[in-house]
Amino acid sequence: MKHLLGIEDLSAGEIRDILDRAAYYAKSLETGKWDHKTLDNKIVITLFFEPSTRTLISFDIAAKRLGASVVNWQVENSSMRKNESFLDTILTLNQMKPDAIIMRHVEFGAPNFVAGHVDCPVINGGDSWREHPTQALLDALTMEREIGPIKDLTVAICGDVAHSRVANSNAILLKKMGANVRIVAPAFLMPQKFPVAGLETFTSLEEGLPGADAVMLLRIQKERMKAGQIPDDAAYHKEFGLTLERLNMAGRKAFVMHPGPMNRGVEIADELADDRERSLIAKQVAGGIPTRMAVLDMLIGK
Ligand code: ASP
Repeated sequence: MKHLLGIEDLSAGEIRDILDRAAYYAKSLETGKWDHKTLDNKIVITLFFEPSTRTLISFDIAAKRLGASVVNWQVENSSMRKNESFLDTILTLNQMKPDAIIMRHVEFGAPNFVAGHVDCPVINGGDSWREHPTQALLDALTMEREIGPIKDLTVAICGDVAHSRVANSNAILLKKMGANVRIVAPAFLMPQKFPVAGLETFTSLEEGLPGADAVMLLRIQKERMKAGQIPDDAAYHKEFGLTLERLNMAGRKAFVMHPGPMNRGVEIADELADDRERSLIAKQVAGGIPTRMAVLDMLIGK
């Protein structure tokens, strides 16, 4: 593995290796014992062109927990504000010899483009609605730790699937690892094409949820829709919002997941967002650190 651009590029064996390494770091974070110098003398640049809380901060913390230094590039303070092109910016940063670039961009495939122009590994922190590989990896880590082996699970991915890189990366990973994957979305948010074969599709929660072990909700990506496409929040919640009662249609033991940020009262009811027994959302956030430590270790560790 030279870069991490998408789950699409990984074999089931490579995914397994990353998840095993992530599980190792999840345990290590509990005991406080790991090699804090794994990334000694390494410098990573975070290059985010879209807002982020979880991904940006957890990559930063993961790198620092392994002993790396992190340079946080920000578009507002960069020479791109003086009209420097994207490519010139990338070539300039490459001359400073970073050990890795972690990036998020609005354009489809931007990390692949960057990977073709730099000498260090590139890690995709989300590109357009194409892929968000570390989100799918941390979701898989969370499911394995909290529910069971991925191959035994039925996972319902629900909501704005059409505009979701999280849905794409998860669908690809879960299929590669042998899970049953359902896509549950209202017709106007159902994608025309799927990134992987063998997904079951449903247009209502009533049909799509029964028997699911995990219900993975997605945020409505208003920033990727045209004005006429944006649904009314209250109407959406009435038809597609997940409540505790609706989660119970999946099963009394089913869990809710969400990559965040959540729109409370839209795709998820408050009661469920705060339910400590049925929600894995806080655990997903926590799982971001060991997962990203694993990825950084495997790409640039000693
Ligand atoms: N945080 C996730 C992402 O960046 C999900 C979202 O924004 O809805 O893709």
